[in-house]
Amino acid sequence: MGRTYLDYAATTPTHPEVVKAMLPYFTEAFGNPSSIYACGQEAKGAIEEARANVADLIGAQDEEIVFTGSGTEADNFAIKGVAYANESKGNHIITTTIEHHAVLETCHFLETKGFKVTYLPVDEYGMVDLEEVRKAITNQTILISVMQANNEIGTIEPLAEIGKIAKETGIYFHTDAVQTVGHIPVSVDELGIDLLSMSAHKLYGPKGVGALYIRKGTKLLSFMHGGEQERGRRASTQNVPGIVGFGKAVEIARQEMNKEAEQVTYLRDKLISGLLAQIDHICLNGHPTNRLPNNVNVSISFAEGESMCLNLDLEGICVSTGSACSSSVTEPSHVLLALGLPPLQAHSSLRFSLGKWTTEEEIDRVLEVLPRIVAKLRAMSPLMKSHR
Ligand code: PLP
Repeated sequence: MGRTYLDYAATTPTHPEVVKAMLPYFTEAFGNPSSIYACGQEAKGAIEEARANVADLIGAQDEEIVFTGSGTEADNFAIKGVAYANESKGNHIITTTIEHHAVLETCHFLETKGFKVTYLPVDEYGMVDLEEVRKAITNQTILISVMQANNEIGTIEPLAEIGKIAKETGIYFHTDAVQTVGHIPVSVDELGIDLLSMSAHKLYGPKGVGALYIRKGTKLLSFMHGGEQERGRRASTQNVPGIVGFGKAVEIARQEMNKEAEQVTYLRDKLISGLLAQIDHICLNGHPTNRLPNNVNVSISFAEGESMCLNLDLEGICVSTGSACSSSVTEPSHVLLALGLPPLQAHSSLRFSLGKWTTEEEIDRVLEVLPRIVAKLRAMSPLMKSHR
């Protein structure tokens, strides 16, 4: 039995071309990029090439990209950095209830330091209401942080409109674009973004490397102090192989993104319509059309998410219940609760996220296996019995 991996939103397999590009930077080109001799400068050159690739993909200038150790670090850097550098202007931050924990926990931390945070609600599809954004702004607001697409339900937020509001009111605008960069087109100018977080392992790059786009002129406090790396924005000897891998992944994404999006959209829609047709008491979570090309999130009543996930695993199929980062916690997903789902329904949710190497046969296999698993679990469910 082969493995069917349908959890690309948790992490993607590293592209073989990415691995190939990284390897020399562990061995012959191992120099420290801050060293002035040739093998150091070779590493520095490779970093700058990767920086140019990343900048180009989002329509930024090279010097506006700072490499970080992860998407989580980029989120922390953006939010804490703006908060502490702009304290004299105000102490209010606006974000949403459906952000990734990297944003939510950073905001919770800042609340303990005297900052005020507004967590905007979302509608039943996970969309932020522009009126709510406008209403939340006060003369103390220094930052709006809204993710471009949600990692659990795939809903894509109206960033260009929020960017316009931020610009009109002179407030910095950050977006967590960890799930979108390399998957759908992203332009920092078209969306009016001042800060944007990315992560290499979500686009077939290596784990442990990310980047933060910082629009020129943005007042941001650095929180890594030490050497002058990354123009003094982030002290630490850079992860050269990781950054090179990120750059290669971005280069591949630029060439293959549109074709991949078309392919996964077809498979996504086949999976959604197949599941809705074959399983009763099921509903699709997230926006019906305005969603990531690779995301399927469903709630299947009277079947517990973890049990479905483990039964699928026994069949060699990897999916997620909510987000991978919180899979050790049995709390219902904060995102599904924010949509208004009752906790029981949130507990019966599954997320499938498709990718470059997902095949139609794999989707057919899920459509054959999952209805069987659901029927088995429901046969044992006291809730299903009382429903009948
Ligand atoms: N933001 C979003 C939307 C994510 O999906 C993730 C990872 O799942 C992160 C941030 C964190 O990125 P990283 O794993 O690089 O720390």
